[in-house]
Amino acid sequence: MPLCYHPGLAIRLFFLLIPVLNCDLHCHSTASDGLLPAAEVARRAAGNGVDLLALTDHDDIGGLAAAREAAAELGMAFVNGVEISIEWEGLQIHILGFAFDAQNKAFNDGLAGIRSGRIERAQRMSAELEKIGIRGAFEGAMRFAENSSLISRAHFARYLVESGVCKDVRSVFESYLVPGRPGYVDHRWATLEESIGWVLGAGGLAAVAHPGRYKLSGRDMRRFLGEFKDVGGQGIEVMSGSHTLDHVGTFGRLAREFGFLASRGSDFHGPGESYVDLGKLAPLPDGLKPIWDAF
Ligand code: AMP
Ligand code: MN
Ligand code: MN
Ligand code: MN
Repeated sequence: MPLCYHPGLAIRLFFLLIPVLNCDLHCHSTASDGLLPAAEVARRAAGNGVDLLALTDHDDIGGLAAAREAAAELGMAFVNGVEISIEWEGLQIHILGFAFDAQNKAFNDGLAGIRSGRIERAQRMSAELEKIGIRGAFEGAMRFAENSSLISRAHFARYLVESGVCKDVRSVFESYLVPGRPGYVDHRWATLEESIGWVLGAGGLAAVAHPGRYKLSGRDMRRFLGEFKDVGGQGIEVMSGSHTLDHVGTFGRLAREFGFLASRGSDFHGPGESYVDLGKLAPLPDGLKPIWDAF
């Protein structure tokens, strides 16, 4: 029997020949609140089949050199990354920066400014927890923070689990460390405009991290995305370890509507403490422009 042309098979063969790149552009090391050193994050990513990795520690780029070196040894592509903490209308929001010049002075000074407020904030968090009978939280959290200038709520959460207050990190956040709960304090982070200014000034690209996690109505989300675009923001994390399928649909549509580049990242913090492992998430939905094409 002659071989016949089969369109479905041809399409499948086409995708086998041009495989989708496994890009993970969001993860953390011990340079912020991750559990693994930067080089180990890179090795784990390569082992999981990641083709392109960005390490995106909170407000700190101290892990980039080690991650880049480990990636090079393994033949995995690597791009500079950071996750900047900002405040917008009283909400804590995260902006991802990619492919910037890590030596840029204004960029480094900006990040140092955010870090400098973290110790004082941690002391206020500890004082609030003390009022409800949880003692020694500052010292306890500091023991979990390899980079003490990057003390984060995640380190407090680990201390509260260790001291038996909660059974896991997730329940610590539900009961103690979010707005309206006793261990949460207000803090002045960077502004949206400052964060984008630093990233663009250093030659990088900026993207909104895990938009599905912010408590914003549809209308306020559009207003936020409009402002983000007006100050030069280019991308949005559509595929995130912390997104539901609904979020992926919603933010895929918003990416098209606003003309944003789409990003994909696990937000891996460490084994057993993350939504998904490095590189282990679905590809971007069809028809979106991947941000990595612009690196
Ligand atoms: P911070 O930058 O100090 O405000 O800490 C924020 C970090 O806490 C995030 O980057 C996460 O690592 C962690 N975090 C925030 N919310 C949650 C949550 N609901 N469950 C688990 N971890 C969380
Ligand atoms: Mn974190
Ligand atoms: Mn985040
Ligand atoms: Mn993150």
